[in-house]
Amino acid sequence: MLNLRYILFWLRQVLFKFNLQLFSHHRTFYYFYRQYGFVMNILDNELTYLPGVGPKRALLFKEELGLSTWKDLLYTFPYRYIDRSKFYNISELNKDLPYIQIKGKFTHFELTSITRNSKKLTGYFGDGTGVVEIVWFQGINWIKDSINKNNEYVLFGKPKAFGNRINIVHPDIEEYEKWQKQLVNNLYPQYSTTEKLKQNFVNSKTIQKLCDTLLKQLKGKIPESLPQWFREKYRLKGIEDTLIQLHFPTDTKELTAAQYRIKFEELFYIQLNLQQIKLNRKQSSVGFIFDKNRDNIVKECFFKKIPFKLTNAQTRVLREIRTDLGSGKQMNRLLQGDVGSGKTLVALLTMLMAVDNGYQACIMAPTEILAQQHYRSVSTFLEGLNVKVNLLTGSVKKKKRTEIHEGLVSGELNILIGTHALIEDNVEFKNLGLVIIDEQHRFGVEQRAKLWEKNDSPPHVLIMTATPIPRTLAMTLYGDLDVSVIDELPPGRTKILTRHFKDKDVLRVFGFIKKQIDLGRQIYVVFPLISESENMDYKDLEDGVEGFSRAFPKPKYQISVVHGRMKPAEKEFAMKMFTDKITQIMIATTVIEVGVDVPNASVMVIESAERFGLSQLHQLRGRVGRGSEQSYCLLMTGDKLSENAYNRIMTMVNSNDGFEIAETDLKLRGPGDLEGKQQSGFAFNLKMANLSQDGQLIQYVKDVASNILGSDPQLIKDENHIMSLNIREMNKGKVDFGLIS
Ligand code: ADP
Ligand code: MG
Repeated sequence: MLNLRYILFWLRQVLFKFNLQLFSHHRTFYYFYRQYGFVMNILDNELTYLPGVGPKRALLFKEELGLSTWKDLLYTFPYRYIDRSKFYNISELNKDLPYIQIKGKFTHFELTSITRNSKKLTGYFGDGTGVVEIVWFQGINWIKDSINKNNEYVLFGKPKAFGNRINIVHPDIEEYEKWQKQLVNNLYPQYSTTEKLKQNFVNSKTIQKLCDTLLKQLKGKIPESLPQWFREKYRLKGIEDTLIQLHFPTDTKELTAAQYRIKFEELFYIQLNLQQIKLNRKQSSVGFIFDKNRDNIVKECFFKKIPFKLTNAQTRVLREIRTDLGSGKQMNRLLQGDVGSGKTLVALLTMLMAVDNGYQACIMAPTEILAQQHYRSVSTFLEGLNVKVNLLTGSVKKKKRTEIHEGLVSGELNILIGTHALIEDNVEFKNLGLVIIDEQHRFGVEQRAKLWEKNDSPPHVLIMTATPIPRTLAMTLYGDLDVSVIDELPPGRTKILTRHFKDKDVLRVFGFIKKQIDLGRQIYVVFPLISESENMDYKDLEDGVEGFSRAFPKPKYQISVVHGRMKPAEKEFAMKMFTDKITQIMIATTVIEVGVDVPNASVMVIESAERFGLSQLHQLRGRVGRGSEQSYCLLMTGDKLSENAYNRIMTMVNSNDGFEIAETDLKLRGPGDLEGKQQSGFAFNLKMANLSQDGQLIQYVKDVASNILGSDPQLIKDENHIMSLNIREMNKGKVDFGLIS
């Protein structure tokens, strides 16, 4: 049966997009008309139309580097600059030097065969202080024919050790005379290339030449993306000068200024966009008002069912939430709290506020196990109260499913807990007032958007995450959300002791586990599972299970095994055996990473810990230390560790603080890898700014953006017109974020 609300939803989406585009086209057109007559944006030209790039190269650029327009190439910046004013003496060369430059003459060449089909050319290159071997494996004939032993050459490359000699393989090579003429400056840019590009004769130098051609073509035509008053106020270079400096820097000072302008602009526009979205939403979105205590369920649950006192942080956060829910505006709040800080309880009480006001509420969790866990604990707290809760996951049978659907539509069901299954189109609510998303980084924004649409007005939204996000990153990823933080663990928790063991210490570890089991405790053992399809990983797990079964024989010891290849029912059964204390050891892959709560478990053993990221290790460790007993986390690794892996392990050993760990993570890994980035909904592509290093600048541009919006919230002033165009460009083709988060 077609559903009217569904049709209306799409109609609205289509109209919205259509309107937006009409509007933006009109404005863009007007803008270019005003600035340049009837010229379209020249930067959108395809690379094929650049002299020096034919269709074949264009395809290569597209496939290898993802570049398709002039703009893409223009904004492909060198990954470093090398100071070419300096020549090294050949006698100084050693393998630890980076790319260096030497000047001298070739004395003679030697051709040797390596295999039947491949040869090696060695040239002996001297400068009076010494001689170094220069080696080629390709283009040998060309080199031999074109080099003149009487000429001076400049070579540029990386010295390497070959036996006890130093050589340079495939250096850049140039006649000194030409080099002198050509060199306009000393900072020599290096662009990233790929093997395939190099095979097709596109190297760093080729790219630089193309940038040169491009910049000449664009002279005076690059649209400025920041208003002049703004550039003057914040001392930012003009766009053309900036781009020229980035590709052809005159000196370090100019280069730094150019880099600063790009960073500033990138971060500024992200902030401006997020803050404007937040502002618009606050002004326009009507939210359900939860101010009644119709059935007094919150109170009843609170006084009769919750066996402990809330922490100060929980109380504070609940107060913040209550204020939002009574404000008449839609709530969009991010709740951050370390593992075990008691977010679930906050979620429960928040849902009860909705129920008290006659609305339905739901929690969406990323995994089936977690949804079940929430369902169990919520059901326990609500036992005997007049609130109906149900669980909807992918494995719920058709009959039960229909029952749930009916309960939702009739309004009989108050709270629904589930996984992605909640988003399916046939799940309809009578009156959905609140949506809670647990561990939000696992959901894509599109999925979230679907939930928002399950009522005519958008429901209130609470997003919970246990992955602490460094402050700078949070500002950039979630700048449009209000943020609450639970920065306190429930009392009586003892600090988890973390130790590092090598695989050869396994007997000591087994001994320790036995003692803990004798004390009545339970043990988690986690194996990495990098991708579900990697058979290697399952082999590790199987071997591990076998090893443990031998060391911990039945009937004295019982082991549960949980991994992603099991059916949901099997998984649930194994989990239940563990929660019911029938098994003492649970061996699992990372399926248990999120949210599982067994207070009696006191030891977390992480196998191949060097293969996990820091935030994941911290999440896993959070599975223990939930009861009052001393808990332990044992990180098992191979004998040899990379420096980075060693630093990660030591960070875990030395710190229990999720935020501190997150900061270190950001430094060690760089922001590119952090979970949540791609899914934050504001996928941005930072070319210059670095979220782990530019914290100060982020804070600064945040204030700059908020000043501008303070005086011109809709960016309608003429002086801010360029900004409003850019913002629209940024949001082109995106879901209507004003509505959803
Ligand atoms: P999170 O979801 O933030 O990781 P949970 O909500 O699962 O944490 O809470 C962890 C454990 O702490 C649960 O067993 C919960 O019942 C308990 N808990 C929550 N709040 C308190 C409190 N104020 N005092 C004591 N125990 C609490
Ligand atoms: Mg939780």
